[in-house]
Amino acid sequence: MTGPDGAVQAAIEWGARRYGVLPVTSVCDVRCVFCSNRQNPPGVRTYQLPPTTVEQTVRTLGLMDDPQRIVVGESVTRIDEGEPFTHPALLDLLALARERFPEAVLQVTTNGSLLTRERVRALAKLSPVEVILSLNSAHSTNRRRLMGDPRPQRALAAADYLAEEGVPFQGSVVAMPHLVGWDDPARAALFLDERGARLIRLFMPGFTRQAPSELRFPLSLWDDLGRLVGQLAPSLRAPLLLEPPRLTDLDARLEGVVPDSPAARAGLRRGDVVKAVDGEEVFCRFDAHVSATEAGPAEIELERPGVGRLKVVLDKRPDERPGFVAHYDINPTRLHRAAGLLHDGPRPALVFTSKLAETVVRLALERVLEPAAREGVRVVAVEDGFFGGSIMTAGLAVVQDYLDALAREEKGGRPAPRLILIPWEPWDQERRDLTGRSVDEVAAAVGRAAVEMV
Ligand code: SF4
Repeated sequence: MTGPDGAVQAAIEWGARRYGVLPVTSVCDVRCVFCSNRQNPPGVRTYQLPPTTVEQTVRTLGLMDDPQRIVVGESVTRIDEGEPFTHPALLDLLALARERFPEAVLQVTTNGSLLTRERVRALAKLSPVEVILSLNSAHSTNRRRLMGDPRPQRALAAADYLAEEGVPFQGSVVAMPHLVGWDDPARAALFLDERGARLIRLFMPGFTRQAPSELRFPLSLWDDLGRLVGQLAPSLRAPLLLEPPRLTDLDARLEGVVPDSPAARAGLRRGDVVKAVDGEEVFCRFDAHVSATEAGPAEIELERPGVGRLKVVLDKRPDERPGFVAHYDINPTRLHRAAGLLHDGPRPALVFTSKLAETVVRLALERVLEPAAREGVRVVAVEDGFFGGSIMTAGLAVVQDYLDALAREEKGGRPAPRLILIPWEPWDQERRDLTGRSVDEVAAAVGRAAVEMV
């Protein structure tokens, strides 16, 4: 374990309880040019985890409270993710998870290079399982270029094995057309679609201030990728999503429909906008998805472009995913907590958000707060100056970024806030950021202000 043992254990516990993450190893067998583990500025405290033992796994599973999903191979906490199949006993660890939580979906993110047919068969026996296959390119030379994968054909074959053995999978593609050309991400999406991926995510790569010049790109790439998705998506069976999305409204517009899902059987389509679930108007995309997931057979009222209002019934069980895919916009539970704090709280009040979420946060607050309750409230998008580059996400904002944002407010002649709302994403169980600094420093910088995480 690299890093103080107590800190690593605390990160494991936090990830298990909060996100259902079961870390298995930070070891990886490839070396992606876009790997987030490689672009951290000095001062970021992340931990390297050697392959975990059975005892550790049992302990981590014991911390989870009946999770619907157990997440393997994703770095949600400070523990660097690796390739789970480098763990020699991964399938045994997954079997332990299955034994303890018979209903939970085992979600395994893998680069596919070690996913043999035998392993895919073993995964099929652990159903319900969902694999997220980080393919990135369907072209051997380009996969080698992007991922340093010495045996790119294996991951390509893995997609066939998943399809043939009936293991549901999503595909992910970090689009780097500036390195491998525009054809490449499009071909990767088509390849995944032909093999029956249930969902395909096309990621705009991020780069930090540490990135070498060849990995940098103009932000206009985001628009270009949006156009690519717009051209490709109508011809694919699987929903194709650009991540992160550029959202300018809260309309529950569908990006697509998972083949053979309740939504597909009910005839929902890309472009439909969900208006109500079981007669209850939905607030946003996230609300539509949660409401339809929780419902049993669900009556969906929707607006179809060029057609008008329609009602359809999704034949599904409670807690079964509806199978329509919309971007994540805002969680109404968080929003209402923020609105409650703002409604009764002192002024001036500052709502910190990320650049990515700024528009959505503004729109949502306008909808839930009366104009009078919005007086003295400022929404401020924090710049990710510490990570720099193209980073615009709340999860990578650090204390220094918040202090810089407060300094800009002061310089702009704005009165010191008495209430600050701050997103919870960057903070660990001790309310520390990725550099180890405490959120309390933000509170201390403005004296009397109350700082609330939402
Ligand atoms: S497969 Fe994942 S962990 Fe491994 S190098 Fe690529 S991005 Fe990093």
